[in-house]
Amino acid sequence: MKQQPDVWIREVGTRDGLQSIATIFPTAAKAEWIAREARAGIPEIEVGSFVPPKLLPQMADTKEVVAQATTIEGLHVSALVPNLRGAENAMASGVDQINYVLSVSEAHSQANVRRSVSEAIAEFGRIIEFRAAHPEYHHVRVASGVATAFGCTISGPVALDDVLRAAEQLLALGADELAVADTVGYGNPAQCRRILGAVHKLAGDIPVGAHFHDTRGLGLANVDAALEVGIRRFDSSLAGLGGCPYAPGASGNIVTEDLVFMLEAMGMRTGVDLDQLLEAREFMTTHLNGEPTHGAYAQAGPPKGFIAASQAA
Ligand code: ZN
Repeated sequence: MKQQPDVWIREVGTRDGLQSIATIFPTAAKAEWIAREARAGIPEIEVGSFVPPKLLPQMADTKEVVAQATTIEGLHVSALVPNLRGAENAMASGVDQINYVLSVSEAHSQANVRRSVSEAIAEFGRIIEFRAAHPEYHHVRVASGVATAFGCTISGPVALDDVLRAAEQLLALGADELAVADTVGYGNPAQCRRILGAVHKLAGDIPVGAHFHDTRGLGLANVDAALEVGIRRFDSSLAGLGGCPYAPGASGNIVTEDLVFMLEAMGMRTGVDLDQLLEAREFMTTHLNGEPTHGAYAQAGPPKGFIAASQAA
């Protein structure tokens, strides 16, 4: 039996990364990318999002991608949904988990899903009710992101009270998991300790993850701060694929390979094999059309005598 990792890594390059770049990956290339990362030991992959294809043509094949990904033994397959309609489609496709996104910033929520924060929270409630009404979907985990928790490109700073109020309401409605997101890469380690520490405390036994972008170079510093306050789940993207539509040239999510290296070097088992992860990176990058890739581990390789915690166990 596979050992439970000390830290759970969710690959989001197949969703967050791909939706931020111009290149449209063929379905077969997405499936192969997912298969390779699963083989490397990544426990969860957010394989796409259920949004109208006209909004995000990169995600038009998510249903097919889910169908292939769910044949991979041991892989937890999740997909992002912006609303009930997306959740219905996602559940019908056979995903293990739905990741809803709630923006804590009113301005961002309106711009993103044309809903106020309270309307968006009510929509999450409808997703929970939909699952409750369908016994065939009772096994599907319903998680929510708490987006723009560290600041918003439209309205600037976001109050901790707003983050906690939203988190509390999502938990009260029955969220199985929360992912606090620094959607635009504004966060710093001190903020991470404060915000993630408070949400983690509020959530009790419900798992809380963190979603960081490396836009201003603080991604892994933020991970370290989050670890300090007990966070053990992180989103990341292979080769840091992605970007930010508001900041040309900005990097995407924190880099999966660098995250795995850091955690393994710190003695935390991720269950991920770095060599196989680099092979997956090699494969993925051959499908890019000039989009920048990131990551220091892929450049430098392991330190002399390095033994990953997962190998030492
Ligand atoms: Zn993101």
